[in-house]
Amino acid sequence: MATETTVSLWHDRAARTATYDSWSGRQERYDVVVVGAGITGTVTALLLAERGLRVAIVEARDIGAVTTGNTTGKVSALQGTRLSQIGRRHSAAVRQGYIDGTLSAQRWVVDFCTQHGLDFDRADAYTYAVDPSKVGMIDAEYRHCRAAGLPAERVTDIPLPFPFRVAAAVTLPDQIQIDPMPLLFAAVERARASGAQVFVGRRVKTVDTDEAGCIVRTDDGDIRADRVVLATGIPILDRGGFFARLEPDRSYCIAVEVPGGPPEGMYLSADSPTRSLRTASAAGTAASEDRLLLVGGNGHVVGRHDSTRSAYDDLLRWSRQTFPGARELYRWSAQDYTDIDGLPEVGPILPGVDRIWVATGFGKWGMTGGVAAAQIIASRFSESRDHEVEAWAPALSSWRTELVTGTPTAVRLNATVAFHLAKGWWQAETSSGGTAEDGSGRVVRDCGRPVGVSTVGGRTTRVSAVCPHLGGILRWNDAESSWDCPLHGSRFTADGSLLEGPATSDLAGR
Ligand SMILES: Cc1cc2nc3c(=O)[nH]c(=O)nc-3n(C[C@H](O)[C@H](O)[C@H](O)COP(=O)(O)OP(=O)(O)OC[C@H]3O[C@@H](n4cnc5c(N)ncnc54)[C@H](O)[C@@H]3O)c2cc1C
Repeated sequence: MATETTVSLWHDRAARTATYDSWSGRQERYDVVVVGAGITGTVTALLLAERGLRVAIVEARDIGAVTTGNTTGKVSALQGTRLSQIGRRHSAAVRQGYIDGTLSAQRWVVDFCTQHGLDFDRADAYTYAVDPSKVGMIDAEYRHCRAAGLPAERVTDIPLPFPFRVAAAVTLPDQIQIDPMPLLFAAVERARASGAQVFVGRRVKTVDTDEAGCIVRTDDGDIRADRVVLATGIPILDRGGFFARLEPDRSYCIAVEVPGGPPEGMYLSADSPTRSLRTASAAGTAASEDRLLLVGGNGHVVGRHDSTRSAYDDLLRWSRQTFPGARELYRWSAQDYTDIDGLPEVGPILPGVDRIWVATGFGKWGMTGGVAAAQIIASRFSESRDHEVEAWAPALSSWRTELVTGTPTAVRLNATVAFHLAKGWWQAETSSGGTAEDGSGRVVRDCGRPVGVSTVGGRTTRVSAVCPHLGGILRWNDAESSWDCPLHGSRFTADGSLLEGPATSDLAGR
């Protein structure tokens, strides 16, 4: 495989086992339409269908096409330094709710994989710091883990072959790592076996409501539902203003072959730039070793990096230094959304608007967060509540009273968004004419309008450089050959087709 091609290990070897429904066979009306078929949408649809509700999934691209198929796939209760961040900003009850929801989701994943014969690994998880100034963060994470009842241990040695001792580490034994695609396909199959319909390649443009329920308006006709769940990463409807509370963060991954095989375990550094490591089976790849090492990191806000390609180069350099002889087999990137409050948001899109629900803000921990969201939605939409889920669900609620703690962060986040909006338009105003070298793209002014000119594989394309979501000026992503919006993370191919983010339409051609 050419190392410049970006495709995840999971997508490359995915054996498509799921079948979908024909759009022409759709029903007039459903109890619930779930928009999006990542882990959140598929598990939500499955749990609702198993409770006897008439459910449809409507997916714009394909199963797992966006974040879930490009995740690192750790299903872990030790999540870097997330628990101490939550613990600092919220009550002990909220911190406990978050961990109980995470453990509930982890148990669901293990049970589901076991029942359906899907492989998963058990491995010890580590959060470590190389930088001595980060020791306090490790100590805090250890304290918060113990206070939440996790059997974490504070250690100074980790099984990575660094030429030096790490400054500090915390470990949690017996965590889980998965390949997300078999799980998604199995969830889709189970959901369909329970009566759900699954439509791919249909984009939801908006959702209207009337006294009879919801009208889900797609790019190919409407369908009706009593309720709608937006499991779209970031919610696609601006109602509720979630885009102003979420920061889209893109990160990079490579899968390498290490002579003699990699050390087992899941690792996440508290240092900056972050390093995230795990192992994976090499089955179905061109590797000669049995196990691969996945190395991730170098995250940044979408559309705010000068050369995304350098993020991969840096990961590869670090991997070769740490694991001499490391050979790259795959590279890919993905983005996820972090809420200003540091917690997921699961619930009505607006207070009192119970017909449209969102599940978002997983902050790069949606392999458990997305499943926990599905469990909450299944409990709330069913006739009888699941009392175990209800015990921790309030910690993950949208519109929780603690949202006020994120106000200073929201102010900073939106001031930065406003800055990038102004900067993009100013730069577009001041650059004119010209073409783009192969593999590059630039924004120029053409008849007063910002136009994105890019050349990929010798083909030059011109598109509107204005994001149809809220008017941000797009920036070229040289690693993925895409146009990325620095405001709220919408992304488009070189010829303007929408890839992901809150936008719901393609770029206009020029
Ligand atoms: C690099 C990286 C590594 C990560 N590693 C981990 C990890 O190790 N462990 C962990 O717990 N979490 C991890 N995460 C986070 C986790 O992968 C995500 O939180 C999770 O996959 C989100 O799932 P989702 O279903 O909510 O969203 P997605 O998987 O993005 O699914 C949303 C779906 O909605 C569809 N959609 C969007 N708009 C529309 C529309 N208008 N109409 C119809 N469909 C639409 C999209 O096409 C997409 O398929 C990682 C994230 C990143 C970025």
